[in-house]
Amino acid sequence: MDPDYYRKIGFMCGLEIHQRLATEEKLFCSCHTEIKDKGHEIATVQRRQRAVAGELGKVDKAAEIEEGKDRLFTYKVFRENTCLVDIDEEPPHRMNMEALRITLSLAHSMGMKIVEELQPMRKGVVDGSDPSAFQRTVLVALEGRIKVNGHTITVPTLCLEEESSGIVGGSEGNVTYDTSRLGVPLMEIATDATIPDPKSAKDVALYLGTLLRITGRMQRGIGSIRQDVNMSIKGGARVEIKGMQELALMDKFIENEVNRQQNLIEISKELQVRKAKIGAPVDLTKIFKNTKANLVGSAECVVGARLGGFEGVMGREINPQRRLGTEISDYAKLGGVKGIIHSDEDLKKYGFAQEEINVIRSELDVAAGDAFMLIAGTKQSAWKSMEHALWRADHALKGVPRETRGAMPGELCTSKFLRPLAGGSRMYPETDTRPILVTKEMLAAAKKNAPNLDSEKKGIGALVKNEAVAAQLLLSPRLKLFKLVVQESKAEPELVANILIQKFTELKREGVDCDAIAEGKIVSLFDSYHRGEITKQAIDSVLRELMKGGSVEAAIEKLKLKRLTGKELKDIIAKEKGKTKDETLRNVMSK
Ligand SMILES: [Zn+2]
Repeated sequence: MDPDYYRKIGFMCGLEIHQRLATEEKLFCSCHTEIKDKGHEIATVQRRQRAVAGELGKVDKAAEIEEGKDRLFTYKVFRENTCLVDIDEEPPHRMNMEALRITLSLAHSMGMKIVEELQPMRKGVVDGSDPSAFQRTVLVALEGRIKVNGHTITVPTLCLEEESSGIVGGSEGNVTYDTSRLGVPLMEIATDATIPDPKSAKDVALYLGTLLRITGRMQRGIGSIRQDVNMSIKGGARVEIKGMQELALMDKFIENEVNRQQNLIEISKELQVRKAKIGAPVDLTKIFKNTKANLVGSAECVVGARLGGFEGVMGREINPQRRLGTEISDYAKLGGVKGIIHSDEDLKKYGFAQEEINVIRSELDVAAGDAFMLIAGTKQSAWKSMEHALWRADHALKGVPRETRGAMPGELCTSKFLRPLAGGSRMYPETDTRPILVTKEMLAAAKKNAPNLDSEKKGIGALVKNEAVAAQLLLSPRLKLFKLVVQESKAEPELVANILIQKFTELKREGVDCDAIAEGKIVSLFDSYHRGEITKQAIDSVLRELMKGGSVEAAIEKLKLKRLTGKELKDIIAKEKGKTKDETLRNVMSK
């Protein structure tokens, strides 16, 4: 591939990394950040939410759309993980200084300008994920810089925010959230859009992820880190991709999004040549009184529209398993229906009779070269959904719409994110807390604790020669344990790294979770090895035994794994005097 390809197509890309911090307490209250009582809520709270104007006096567009859905939100409340602050019945407490200290140290390692007086803001959230309808966010630092693979990438902002609640279920008009992770400190790092290609985007994400992890102060596990990608190409539009769980596949998702935008640009050119034109929506309900097509037959209302010049284009593939029709269908779903039916599909498969298709075509004034679409639902949802679908169909003439998209892991591509992208009109100063002054002492501590990825890499590289193991160790939650063992036990670092990375992972697959063993015992295990009390081969068995409790000495004793000294071995052999060579060998080995 042309190494200049991405520059030529005007590729622009930036990342937003969200990482939960492993502090004791939440950001603005004293609830545990560790989930203590999952699944055993003590109460539920219900709310409805309305959009209100932000600091600039404007109501956010996304907020208005959400309000229009008129939904009831139910929040599950837990004894250890939720309090009155979380459900907005009590003002926020003082901001968590531990979280701020961690954030300041990261700001320092990215060479950022730290804001002297921190002002918590309320960012309006109307999808229900916050019972208060806002999320607190604090801009901590500005204008940082990181260097990845020779490219300098600017980091314009670093924020400390509250995590939202997790959605746990619900239906169209009623959504249920779990509040246990609500308010957990969340660090948000945003880069500028100068990442040159998809592979570099993955490298930048990996760099930032590693930088965060080597602090040893980050939460681990699924959902604790999220990478959002902002990207566009020349002639396309800025798209935000959310929900990419697997870093290893990030470049593939971005490549597919590039393809999608290129295909949509091609389609728009073709539609312009064809002089494509969208028709007005028409109520077609009466046609389907006695239909065998269940999708429309059971609906209260069916609305149709002509898509002049769209024949063959609706069914064109623009991404794996996705067509222009799928994109329009995603918009229809915003109005509450399940999707659309269009004429590039095999309509007989839905049970439509040829006679019905003819009537639809004549009612909608569909000619050769045209397509049409149908939407079935309640009177309200069908018309509302048609409005969204027509907007999207019309945009096919212009090219790529600006939108938020969600990652679809199976196809490595994206679909429209059903929650709208909120804009700038949703910020309001938090009037219930005082601004926080960043002191000289805090800055000095940030400097002292700032993680340094390059020196960390060098340090580990000097101890562990196997590059793959060293790289895994840097990303591993056992990095701290590794340093402790190497410092305390004098065991060879290479062996310690191999055991902590490979052996621990191998045992975990068998259901033996060595991470549950106290650090002190791990140190003393390597100590025994270093003193020659046990062999390398015995480490596996001792780890399994340690899982049952008890000390390392007890485990060695119980498993009879103690290594013999030369004299002890000589004594054993001496007792075999007079026996044949084979017999001696057999007896000694069994002992
Ligand atoms: Zn709380």
